[in-house]
Amino acid sequence: MSLMIAGTMAFDAIETPFGKTDKIIGGSATYAAWSASHFTQPIKQISIIGGDFPQGELDALSARGVQFEGVEVLKDEKSFFWSGKYHMDMNTRDTLITDLNVLEKFDPKVPESYQDCEFLMLGNLMPSLQRQIIEQLKNRPKLIIMDTMNFWMDIAMDELMKTIKMVDLIMVNDGEARQLSGEYSLVKAAQKIMEMGPKYVIIKKGEHGALLFHEKQVFFAPALPLEDVFDPTGAGDTFAGGFIGHLAQTKDISFENMKTAIIVGSAMASFVVEKFGTERLTEITNEDVMNRLNQFVDLVNFDIDIVA
Ligand code: AMP
Repeated sequence: MSLMIAGTMAFDAIETPFGKTDKIIGGSATYAAWSASHFTQPIKQISIIGGDFPQGELDALSARGVQFEGVEVLKDEKSFFWSGKYHMDMNTRDTLITDLNVLEKFDPKVPESYQDCEFLMLGNLMPSLQRQIIEQLKNRPKLIIMDTMNFWMDIAMDELMKTIKMVDLIMVNDGEARQLSGEYSLVKAAQKIMEMGPKYVIIKKGEHGALLFHEKQVFFAPALPLEDVFDPTGAGDTFAGGFIGHLAQTKDISFENMKTAIIVGSAMASFVVEKFGTERLTEITNEDVMNRLNQFVDLVNFDIDIVA
């Protein structure tokens, strides 16, 4: 039983109020795979890269149980490149550059050896390609999760709606939930999104945590209050990787277990923002992860006596 992750493997250039990077490794599937690898292996990756993507990065991921049979390499072309600049609040950012490069030619193929996957994470990618991946599966996985972003709502809303219909769970941030549903209230937004197809909706609110909706049930998990947030890039993908990594590890997709998965995802996201890019995810140990999970338990645990 394994996990399939699709998305971008990319170069990013990031500017925050605290610093600036040249091209560093990024991409939705890169962050998600690093994060999920702390909980489940192997991870069967679907992406496309150019000849410029460093072999050392592939080797490091491979040492974490990530497999690349579904990653197409176009030797003479450039990898996807994204550049963004964060505002002072570190919650909002402007996209400066999106160079699709190899992504323009991406025609994802699910290898035969991936057909046994019981969990599928569709990271941020063109919605038509996300759907193309689902359509190639011979057996429906236990759980299909998708992430998306405002970029696709602006340019490919019809395609996005078709893909949303086919997944079990969608993750969006609060602004995207409002844009997708046309509702300001996140409760109403989640209800409307569930009417589009998914049985579960996760709405991420950056430093204010995340909400999980299913039918009439709602669960809220805070984000860990951190002294310093250095670079929020990839927080959403890292959250997604931790969330689905935990579900794949425990093989339990009940609402109760999704509550734990949200905490796991939040704990992983709290690491990634501590340094630029994926760096922090590459250095943390299982003990670091356990300690951080315990910090979450302490953060939200309280006893109250209710006097009638
Ligand atoms: P997040 O901060 O979780 O939204 O993810 C940021 C990552 O998503 C970066 O590493 C980018 O390379 C990648 N990314 C940015 N824009 C897109 C896009 N339009 N499609 C796919 N991946 C993207």
